[in-house]
Amino acid sequence: MNRRAILKGALGGVLGLTLPPFARYAFSQESPAVVPVSEGFVMLTGAGGNVLVRTASTGQVLVDSGAAEFTAVLKRLRELPGAGRVTTVFNTHWHREQVGGNLAFGRLGATIIAHEKTRAHLATDYYLWAEDRYEKALPAEARPTVTFFVGDQTLAGDKRIKYGHLLEAHTDGDIYVFFRDANVLAAGDAISPLKDPVLDWFGGGWLGGRADAQEKLLKLSNAETRIVPSYGPVVGRAELQAEFDMTRVLFDRMLDLVRKGMSAQDMLDAGLMKDLSRTFRDPFRFTYDAYKGYWAHHNSLSPDLL
Ligand SMILES: [Zn+2]
Repeated sequence: MNRRAILKGALGGVLGLTLPPFARYAFSQESPAVVPVSEGFVMLTGAGGNVLVRTASTGQVLVDSGAAEFTAVLKRLRELPGAGRVTTVFNTHWHREQVGGNLAFGRLGATIIAHEKTRAHLATDYYLWAEDRYEKALPAEARPTVTFFVGDQTLAGDKRIKYGHLLEAHTDGDIYVFFRDANVLAAGDAISPLKDPVLDWFGGGWLGGRADAQEKLLKLSNAETRIVPSYGPVVGRAELQAEFDMTRVLFDRMLDLVRKGMSAQDMLDAGLMKDLSRTFRDPFRFTYDAYKGYWAHHNSLSPDLL
């Protein structure tokens, strides 16, 4: 019996009932689940990051493509309207759990759309500071073919789809994708309803950018909008508002504390996380990453957001 079979045997029947949703994501290895989002839209979960799919007999549009090891994504898409004919893939950012299926879909002729920074990251060997190693550039067919730098865009050939930059919300290449007629908004990792928010400070994300991005997402949405994150469940505007409010509290508190010259641990000891609307699994990691991001912006620190 291999390790996976043992895991399944030991955990199988009780997994779905006893573990919190986040843990279920971690264990659903080879068969992404299909979660309804809205009419004509589903989300594939358990394939690295969430994959949002607009299904249609004329072809499918994806937001993010999962992690490379989850080859069952394409199999799942073949079972949905459009039968795996993917015309367009958006990448919300360049982390590998969002772009792993790019090679397969690029080879099948899909247009891959992303921020220019995402293309640049994927076209170059990239140093992972936490692991002290380089991640290899992706093959040419896996890289975005349509990119932009600033502002909001409308998809050529389908004006129902709007997309745009979320400056430094999580990395330096974050975008949203808004399906206007269906009121479905893919927010990538600029929101984090389930996991601790992640700020890839080495890759250009910081708390000020995250606050701005969440404010922008609030402006795009209304009470009926279905908002799809990179990880966790589909949420509504109320959850987005709650996360934005928390982000602003953290931003203001940290701005004050960083000006006092505090370290990340000092900030935690001084009550940075006190009475927030949610608790963090790893408060130090979040605080350290946010703190590093502030120092990357120390010349522009002011009471105003960027
Ligand atoms: Zn990410």
